[in-house]
Amino acid sequence: MSEKFDVIVVGAGPAGYVAAIRCAQLGFNTACVDKWQDADGKPSLGGTCLNVGCIPSKALLDSSEKVEQASHDFENHGISVGKVSVDVPKMIARKDDIVGNLTKGIAGLFKANKITSLHGHGKLLADKQVEVTLDGKSQTYSADKVILAVGSEPIDIPVAKVDNEIILDNAGALDINAVPKKLGVIGAGVIGLELGSVWNRLGSDVTILEAMDTFLAPVDKQLSREAQRTFTKGQGLDIKLGAMVTATKTAKKSVKVTYTLKGEEHTETFDKLIVAVGRKASTQNIAADEVGLKLDDRGRVDVNDRCETNIPGVYAIGDAVKGPMLAHKGSEEGVFVAEIIAGQKPHMNHDNIPWVIYTHPEIAWVGINEEQAKEQGINYKTGFFPFAANGRSLAMNEKGGRVKMIADAETDRILGVHILGPNASELISEAVLAMEYSASTEDIARTIHGHPTLSEAMHEAALSVDGRALHKVN
Ligand code: FAD
Ligand code: NAD
Repeated sequence: MSEKFDVIVVGAGPAGYVAAIRCAQLGFNTACVDKWQDADGKPSLGGTCLNVGCIPSKALLDSSEKVEQASHDFENHGISVGKVSVDVPKMIARKDDIVGNLTKGIAGLFKANKITSLHGHGKLLADKQVEVTLDGKSQTYSADKVILAVGSEPIDIPVAKVDNEIILDNAGALDINAVPKKLGVIGAGVIGLELGSVWNRLGSDVTILEAMDTFLAPVDKQLSREAQRTFTKGQGLDIKLGAMVTATKTAKKSVKVTYTLKGEEHTETFDKLIVAVGRKASTQNIAADEVGLKLDDRGRVDVNDRCETNIPGVYAIGDAVKGPMLAHKGSEEGVFVAEIIAGQKPHMNHDNIPWVIYTHPEIAWVGINEEQAKEQGINYKTGFFPFAANGRSLAMNEKGGRVKMIADAETDRILGVHILGPNASELISEAVLAMEYSASTEDIARTIHGHPTLSEAMHEAALSVDGRALHKVN
């Protein structure tokens, strides 16, 4: 007889491990299966986010930002440090330490919550049985409920095959052990901009080849235009829009990239090339054919608004299902499903998920942007406040960016908030909370914000919707 659990979660990324913890908190006998291995072949929980995603990229973004400040910003404060040198292997080792701490932390949380951690590839069989395979050996477990949280993996393109020596995916791009002189990036999306920024700050000459003609299509136009100017003219990233890579040829230490731009063919040689053209759900071999698990047209597990699949008692969450591929979205779905299984009536507002791009300045938004308001025929009004007029921002030597607010013209309800600026990642939470409470701009305008803080820019943007910002001409 196979060992039986109340719930088996397949995948221990931010969606799966959070689902497992919440299930255990709710009193379910829970197991979590995960196949991730570290460089030594040991299990490493936390999925893409902890191992090769959110956390390691932010560790390197933080280190490289310090290099940038010491090299270019300290002098503005009257601080001389001479020529700044960088020990890349030490920087990478610091990043690995953080990853190690956090992934071990998940193992500790599993132990504390009495979650059975199973290492190997999990596959859904009939009758909610899960087969776990490691090194060719399989064992089958069964459960009342199964949660599939198998995550995502980089999309690869035939013209640039990843070898993680010269042509790198996001994992390889986080482990470069010397600053490449010339770095190419395919894709000016979130990963391209974040990792392009890291290596640009460390001294690489970075060229980003983006197929689309628009820069950061999901971002409000006013902000994306200013961001593009800052990243190119201000920071020296060479972002080529409308560039289609047609061929790559790797040599021992370089790669020749051919691309077309405005009908002309160009060739450039890079020391390393990062491919960051999006991610796809990791749904291969997650269910036996006879189970009949339904996938959607993009290969994601097909789920309804309760994260239920077409198989009764089987749920799916995180990057493997519809919606933005973000860690906090997956985690929230994990809690949501655990509470549904417990018979509760949880709430998850998919319209109110914040996005953050950790460039400098950061870009963060929630809700709809102005272009979407127009497309949807909404009668809207806007307000904004520039960080150049915010005292705290100037004290930090941060002069660019703005907070922009979009509200319903009749009800004043906030529909979207868009921030380009320092600590946008933290500031956006106020907007998310306000929108969760269906707040109006008047609510934020009447809320007292500490002085001097960056959050005063949020306050002023709300005042500006009503033409009464205090520290700018309306
Ligand atoms: P994953 O994190 O992909 O985890 C899935 C887990 O399931 C993995 O451990 C995988 O090995 C395992 N698995 C898959 N199939 C099986 C199977 N059959 N059996 C057993 N185990 C299996 N998001 C943010 O919100 N903020 C950020 O700053 C951010 N930065 C990012 C930076 C980079 C470079 C990348 C690549 C991604 C970033 N993301 C960020 C996205 C974020 O990492 C994902 O949205 C998040 O990890 C998705 O969580 P998940 O649990 O659904 O899947
Ligand atoms: P992305 O969708 O953000 O960007 C991919 C970019 O590549 C797009 O601009 C697309 O037009 C372009 N592209 C596609 N095919 C191309 C081609 N053949 N040639 C040139 N350009 C091409 O994807 P990503 O940057 O790979 O990141 C994947 C996902 O991971 C993100 O969408 C996001 O969900 C998540 N992520 C989030 C964060 C964060 O929250 N800060 C950070 C990194 C990744």
